[in-house]
Amino acid sequence: MISVVLPAYNEKENIIPAITKISEVIEGAGEDYELLFISDGSSDGTYDVIKEQSLANPHVKGAEFSRNFGKEAAIFAGLSISSGDAVIVMDCDLQHPVSAIPEMIAKWKDGAEVVEGIKNSRGREGIFHKLCAGVFYGIMSSLIKIDMSSSSDFKLLDRKAVDALLELPESNTFFRALSFWIGFKSEKVYYDVEERRSGKSKWSLGGL
Ligand code: UDP
Ligand code: MG
Repeated sequence: MISVVLPAYNEKENIIPAITKISEVIEGAGEDYELLFISDGSSDGTYDVIKEQSLANPHVKGAEFSRNFGKEAAIFAGLSISSGDAVIVMDCDLQHPVSAIPEMIAKWKDGAEVVEGIKNSRGREGIFHKLCAGVFYGIMSSLIKIDMSSSSDFKLLDRKAVDALLELPESNTFFRALSFWIGFKSEKVYYDVEERRSGKSKWSLGGL
């Protein structure tokens, strides 16, 4: 069984399209699955949509934070309630293409314990956003000695790797780096960043 963890902060319009597209692809790959939406203290009714969908569809489950804790916390909450033999973490605005999922599953079945989604391009971003991301990844990559510039939170993790991540004592996590750092057998899948399906990026200038 495959779990898909989807952090969702004010993504009301994106929940149903995400369910439709992801279900289609995973059913096409012949796998059983659960879709775990973690509403990160949304104020637009995102959790109402998740609840409604979970009542109508046994594959859909969800949780809601008491306030906005950030995507990292939402990812780790999702991992902690997942029960799949493998867990896929992806954004619920559909910027992570569902078409990459079958390749991730195939690499996992061939023995990979962590399948990293690697960005071919960073999608449409402003020059300032690109610059900030470049400086951040430059510093980060030199500190941890791993090239992080094309990495993302789009990943598949084997249960073993999920359990290792959940055992870490860190309270301030950085999922995309820790999933390298735990050191399991890893493979890469390359993808093009899609346009956000609906709504706006949650990165404010300050946050960036
Ligand atoms: N997200 C979240 N909590 C936050 C900010 C974002 O759970 O505080 C989720 C968001 O709903 C989306 C994913 O994290 O599913 C990526 O966020 P966003 O699209 O804003 O980032 P970008 O794609 O612009 O890097
Ligand atoms: Mg996005």
